Amino acid sequence: MSRHAVRSTPSDPHAKAGDVVTPKEPTSFDRAGATPMMAQYLEIKAANTDCLLFYRMGDFFELFFEDAEIASRALGIVLTKRGKHAGSEIPMCGVPVERADDYLSRLIALGHRVAVCQQVEDPAEAKKRGPKSVVRREVQRLVTPGTITEDRLLDPARANLLLAIGRRKVSEHAHAYGLAAFDISTGRFSLSEVADGALSAAIARYEPREIVLSEAIHSDPALARLWRDTSAAVVPLAQAELEPASAERRIREQFGVATLDGFGQFSRAEIAAAGAALLYIERTQIGTRVPLSAPSREASGATLSIDAATRANLELTRTLSGDRKGSLLDTIDRTVSAGGARLLAEHLAGPLTDLEAIGGRHAAVAYLVGEPSLCGPLRDALASAPDIARALTRTGLGRAGPRDLAALRDGLDAAARIADRLAEPKDAPRLLKEIGEHLAGVDTGLVAELAAALADELPLNRRDGNFVRAGYHAEIDEARKLGRDSRKVIAALQARYAEESGCRTLRIKHNNVLGFYIEVPQAVGEACLKGLMKDFIHRQTMVDAMRFTSVELGELESKIAGASDRVLAMEGEVFEHLASLVLAQTEVVAGVAEALASLDVTASHAELAIELDWVRPRLDESVAFTIEGGRHPVVEAALRRGGEPFIANDCDLSGKESGRIRLVTGPNMGGKSTFLRQNALIVVLAQMGAFVPARSAHLGLVDRLFSRVGAADDLARGHSTFMVEMVETAAILNQATRRSLVVLDEIGRGTATFDGLSIAWACLEHLHETNGCRALFATHFHELTALSQRLTRLDNATLRVTEHRGEVVFLHEVVPGIAERSYGLQVARLAGLPKAVVARAGAILKGLEASERDRPTRRRIDDLPLFASLADAPPPEPAQPVPVDEGIGALVDELDPDAMTPREALDALYRLKKERARNA
Ligand code: ATP
Repeated sequence: MSRHAVRSTPSDPHAKAGDVVTPKEPTSFDRAGATPMMAQYLEIKAANTDCLLFYRMGDFFELFFEDAEIASRALGIVLTKRGKHAGSEIPMCGVPVERADDYLSRLIALGHRVAVCQQVEDPAEAKKRGPKSVVRREVQRLVTPGTITEDRLLDPARANLLLAIGRRKVSEHAHAYGLAAFDISTGRFSLSEVADGALSAAIARYEPREIVLSEAIHSDPALARLWRDTSAAVVPLAQAELEPASAERRIREQFGVATLDGFGQFSRAEIAAAGAALLYIERTQIGTRVPLSAPSREASGATLSIDAATRANLELTRTLSGDRKGSLLDTIDRTVSAGGARLLAEHLAGPLTDLEAIGGRHAAVAYLVGEPSLCGPLRDALASAPDIARALTRTGLGRAGPRDLAALRDGLDAAARIADRLAEPKDAPRLLKEIGEHLAGVDTGLVAELAAALADELPLNRRDGNFVRAGYHAEIDEARKLGRDSRKVIAALQARYAEESGCRTLRIKHNNVLGFYIEVPQAVGEACLKGLMKDFIHRQTMVDAMRFTSVELGELESKIAGASDRVLAMEGEVFEHLASLVLAQTEVVAGVAEALASLDVTASHAELAIELDWVRPRLDESVAFTIEGGRHPVVEAALRRGGEPFIANDCDLSGKESGRIRLVTGPNMGGKSTFLRQNALIVVLAQMGAFVPARSAHLGLVDRLFSRVGAADDLARGHSTFMVEMVETAAILNQATRRSLVVLDEIGRGTATFDGLSIAWACLEHLHETNGCRALFATHFHELTALSQRLTRLDNATLRVTEHRGEVVFLHEVVPGIAERSYGLQVARLAGLPKAVVARAGAILKGLEASERDRPTRRRIDDLPLFASLADAPPPEPAQPVPVDEGIGALVDELDPDAMTPREALDALYRLKKERARNA
């Protein structure tokens, strides 16, 4: 692998995952004067500067120099030293080979990439070349976050995506981006193209573990924020390696086709992306060909566009604190298989925009809801089906173990049983029929073969042997019998030696160092040495025992060892044979895996609908939005656990040409945010193909969904609270279409009241006049409610409260109208603010309200000078005369920029200029 091409592993231990760090060229690469082994290490390391190098030495993978320092810190393992290089001691740490996966997974999770360097010859062979020669070693694989396949390194419920990005120019200033999303662990591969502005949302949808792109895209300043914000490891590849011709060639070679025409039309950007991904896979898997399904192409706009902020805000796949628990995904997941869980997450991340496809999913859910006697047994059968997608990939990569073959046996068997069940009903909807057809493709002969060949108890690794069932392979049975018989012979030998020596405690034992040996107590041992047992050859003297061997025992031992080696070799052949039978049907098995996952997702939706009384939504091309009795699935689930009811609420944003806007005012804690989000979540659920938590729902397809909450902190990314809010609001106003749904929760909260109010006001006008989208807008700026008089498609709604003995009682009921107050003080008291502070706040509030009453015009927003037209603006106040004895410094001291209106600020500037002129 060339060293200039990839550079992403943080060689700086403090770098966060995804940081791109130019590898240092440690002086330690100087090989002059190195021991032969160290010279070999340095040579291999020099070709893999961007990875931590796991260097195999016997039963350990050792790391040296900087790698050792990084790994020991990251893994909490001891840093030791080994010899010297260039005058300094060499830092070293190591991990045992049999636990390497655990350590690898931890390093990968931290965003590191690891080059696994193995010994590729027997140490005995190396010795033959000379006393100083070093065992040959080679890097056999790069382990990186986006290219792992081992079960122990993977999350079963999550796809593990490598996302490659290519691009093409569509005009002087605009690009289109090609995206190739690979899940190497399952062989799935999809291509799509998005416009400039949609790239960020697309990355958020895929949630890749690793992103591969060209240097040019990586260094484009307009995109810098994307690479900084993603949690994926970002790997730029040198431009020279990404020529269009080589990208096409790679795709053709991967799929063994002469032309790409058979796959449909791909854009240049998509081909560039696919080429970059294949190059990277080739490079990390080193010589092992990854089995990938034929690329599926997703048309642009085929999924509901949801940007990263909206995903986070709606807590679709994880909560704001980053947990899966408490997210929408966690709440709706009733899947019973790993493949189903992954597909559910994929559907949730990319709800559809195609009516027919969504309708197809709904119809299948509806059918299962109506046939509980079918749904239950299907789910039982699905639960017994292991993860065949990942087992298949490992088989294709030559990394499978006997348990993977067993997973394929059980998964395919379950699929065949499910196919039988699905074949029964004649009236099943299309999706279920298609699933049934895929499942019916299972070759029951293959299942029978696997069942006949594999034993009941299986080891993890094939090299452990003993996985071929007795009776499957005559020669294996015979060799095993020989092994067993030899053991009997050993037992007989032990009995004979015991009798001959008169030592009843004489034993024939086995260990890895001596092999078989005879053990007798010390005194008997002495006697043996003196001629009691002439055949015995002394091997070892222990504290109270002695160990011997004999020619007879030695012969027996080699017979036994030979037999078990032969068995192991034959079992290996059986494994290869079974694997080849599976791989001959790769496409069928992959299709079966997808069908099982799809059925699991459908049945999960059905189960949920039955359990929680969810309904099938009605979707069409209109801009309707009528939800009756809508509920927030996550809040409802939380309340249910506490035995409390959730209050269902209606929401109507339906319009003819453009949608309506609902302005929600109401008390703190009244349920505004819950109401806003539940309507957004219902859209996501409906368009992903699920039923929805409502009494009824009629929705016009949504093309883009936006949800923002004002004043969300993003200090980690270097933005002030208010800046983030404005950047996100800008994105909405620029992108929302007539078909979009916009949810804005308290926009304008993070700045001075009038600034915030004016911004919120102008945003509402823009949404109404220009975007024409359906929108929900929650605010504490009660002044905004007056807008409903001017904006014809804007209604006011509020959350009901009552007061009971001075305490506020939230009814969580959304009703038309305007909130009279925010009940902030009551909420503050409930939250435990000191009584004295609440009382003082009450007094201040009274004072403020009284002064407001004295200026009644202030309550009416249209009367505020800030919002009146310029012609109506009050005449500027005359500039204050500046006392001659006051200097500029004193003047500046007087200014309080935060408290000034723009007008006052301008006046102050004039005064400063004037003062300066006077002093000059
Ligand atoms: P704030 O203005 O302070 O942000 P809010 O009006 O947005 O408050 P929410 O955060 O939506 O209020 O709701 C507060 C709490 O009220 C929720 O955590 C939930 O426990 C409860 N709640 C909200 N809506 C409902 C409902 N429809 N039925 C029952 N309880 C609800």
